[in-house]
Amino acid sequence: MNSISRIVIIGAGMAGARAVINLRANGYEGAITLVGEEKLLPYDRPPLSKASILAEADPDPVWLLDEGIVASLKADVILGAGATAIDRAAKTVTLSDGRRLPYDKLLIATGAKPRKLPIPGGEHALLLRNQEDTMLLRKRFVPGKNIVIIGGGFIGLELASSAAKKGCNVTLVEAQPRILMRGVPEAIAKIIHNRHVAAGVTLLTATGLSHLTADAVHLADGRVLPADTIIAGIGASPEVTLARDAGLVIDNGIACDEGMRTSDPDIFAAGDCASFIHARLGNRRIRLEAWRSAQDQAATAAENMLGGAKKNIAVPWFWSDQYELGLQIAGMADMGPVTVAREINPDTLVLFHLAEDGSLMGASGIGPGNAISRDIKMAEMMMAKGIKPARDVLADPAQPLKGLIR
Ligand code: FAD
Ligand code: NAP
Repeated sequence: MNSISRIVIIGAGMAGARAVINLRANGYEGAITLVGEEKLLPYDRPPLSKASILAEADPDPVWLLDEGIVASLKADVILGAGATAIDRAAKTVTLSDGRRLPYDKLLIATGAKPRKLPIPGGEHALLLRNQEDTMLLRKRFVPGKNIVIIGGGFIGLELASSAAKKGCNVTLVEAQPRILMRGVPEAIAKIIHNRHVAAGVTLLTATGLSHLTADAVHLADGRVLPADTIIAGIGASPEVTLARDAGLVIDNGIACDEGMRTSDPDIFAAGDCASFIHARLGNRRIRLEAWRSAQDQAATAAENMLGGAKKNIAVPWFWSDQYELGLQIAGMADMGPVTVAREINPDTLVLFHLAEDGSLMGASGIGPGNAISRDIKMAEMMMAKGIKPARDVLADPAQPLKGLIR
């Protein structure tokens, strides 16, 4: 199939783990070395803001690869050592412990890192990205404690939900006029907003910050919010340091083509660190920070590292769980200027985002449990097949969407 015998993967998260699995599934029998700077085998991050916070006893990570799977996949895993440099001419990766790993093909799957709060005293805000962060937050989420969260994005809202469920007094501060300003339609954000308020969370939107002290958040308008714990969830930046230092092209992440190839034909990238051209979404360059996208990109990269010609055309999809509510978004809502609402009941809503020509570009849904899962799945299938759905069917909850899929 190829003469490749040494593959190195930098980053032992979702994309790195899935790449190992996919390389073997594609029949590759050569050496695989997976390098992770965390001391843990690859584990799942979505529970970190939800189930792992709420668990009664200290939870173990949810492993993506455990010792047994690693052994069966015959992968060398180096943990607790970050990659510090890539020498593209010599085709080697240098690790923080001084080791140098030669590669024939390299995958960079270094994820993203949380942004630090850029205001005086910003260092008093805790951040959440890994298991260690979650274990620290668990100790702080004690009934009656004042938790102030900065940022009304996914981390902020999921942690607000978890802290409220734990009986904390929660205040969330968002600079924008509403929560989830980017990427989530207003009608859906409103249902989420109302659910937080019903749970007793104080939501301060359009509210700026002045500075932080160890025990308080000082707002721009002079108000002071006493805080036992301050958390910032103000977005994440792609981890591109290695790639940039190695001279790879960076464009909102490590710039890849449709097949997750970087500007060096022997180096690929996948997951939160990578941007790529989405051939089914108008050849637009996108970067996705989502669990399933990391898996899709890793599968594409693995196939192409072995000489394949796969394009990553999977319909983007992600979810968020807050209280009993499940949010799901498929496709790119901002590419569909025409919105059709399917109003299932007051807390269950699906919005379809259509292009002017009637093509379905995105679907966003909110509802208890899995109430909207089937409709979002149908929307995904319509997008994958390029179907232009009948609007009256989309808008009528009595009519199943299945009939629209030919
Ligand atoms: P990561 O999983 O971040 O893995 C990258 C790994 O690379 C890290 O372990 C990092 O330490 C390592 N690394 C970085 N630099 C180096 C280096 N130089 N050398 C060696 N190793 C290095 N998505 C959803 O769709 N739904 C959700 O509900 C959801 N919940 C989430 C909750 C939380 C708290 C977080 C943080 C994320 C959540 N996500 C969710 C997003 C999803 O988890 C990420 O998109 C996914 O983890 C991305 O995978 P990745 O492999 O690109 O990056
Ligand atoms: P996010 O979803 O991008 O939200 C960040 C929020 O903070 C935005 O509302 C942002 O507003 C606001 N903000 C930015 N700068 C601010 C400032 N200086 N002061 C106050 N507010 C500010 O990012 P996140 O919630 O921090 O999540 C981080 C990472 O974890 C992302 O990769 C995310 O995908 C991942 N994650 C995903 C999920 C999920 O998919 N369910 C759950 C948890 C975490 P602006 O829009 O104006 O910038």
